Amino acid sequence: MLVENTIAVISGGASGIGKATVERYAENGANVVVADIDEEGGRETVREIGERDGEATFVQTDVTQPDDVQRMIETAVEEYGGIDVLFNNAGIEGPLAEVANYDEDAFERVIAVNLKGVFLGIKYGVQAMLTDGGGTIINTSSIASESGILGRSAYTASKAGINGLTRVAAVEYAEDDIRVNAVLPGFVRTPMQQRSADQQSTERLDRYKLSEAMEGIERPGDIADAVLFLGSDLASRITGITLPVDGGFLQQP
Ligand code: NAD
Repeated sequence: MLVENTIAVISGGASGIGKATVERYAENGANVVVADIDEEGGRETVREIGERDGEATFVQTDVTQPDDVQRMIETAVEEYGGIDVLFNNAGIEGPLAEVANYDEDAFERVIAVNLKGVFLGIKYGVQAMLTDGGGTIINTSSIASESGILGRSAYTASKAGINGLTRVAAVEYAEDDIRVNAVLPGFVRTPMQQRSADQQSTERLDRYKLSEAMEGIERPGDIADAVLFLGSDLASRITGITLPVDGGFLQQP
């Protein structure tokens, strides 16, 4: 029960890494606000948590919209009395195309969801935490943030931006007992990973093979475990880090 009686808000909680993290927090005693643009998936996550005697509530949220993000945070305060943990995890992969051919609207959309969404989460999450005695924020970045993933310029730029936001917010709010960290998942078996695998690549992109030092790839629960640790008191002196959960991918030559 690493997060017993804490209040956690998890964006992208309808699917993949976010859903696994909702499960991990609920199993460990947290009250969880599940936020997602996907109402059906989000409500299904909450229903499954309820079946296992966990506590969760859903709020439909588009993380690119300030009003929605404010409502996401307010839901935690109204339903459970505050906010202790915020996991800014919602994200999209965008198209697969080299920079010269990358669609400009698609570029803006990826930045809006992945980077502005995290900015808005931090902004309104911190405002609530400042009146509530502190808290901890975890952002989902990616191994893409520390490497050059072919065909993924918008995604890679958005994730590198998250690392920067994480470091700045960590030092700005350290004295207010607000910790801010990021996780960098490797290759995780989720619907996003499946969509990425299904995208048509060019011959040049096909030559670029990704592999991790450890055999296999991550499960959503592997990332959820790291987010549980960072959100718990076990990590009480850890702030501003970008933690790879990547089977050693980033350490390879
Ligand atoms: P996923 O597609 O399974 O889940 C993403 C969730 O975000 C979905 O439920 C979706 O509805 C939600 N979402 C999308 N746009 C939204 C918006 N505007 N507002 C609110 N919710 C929105 O993907 P996943 O693999 O679980 O990805 C979760 C996070 O992990 C993302 O930030 C992704 O970039 C990151 N990540 C994933 C991998 C991987 O291999 N799967 C690797 C590195 C990083």
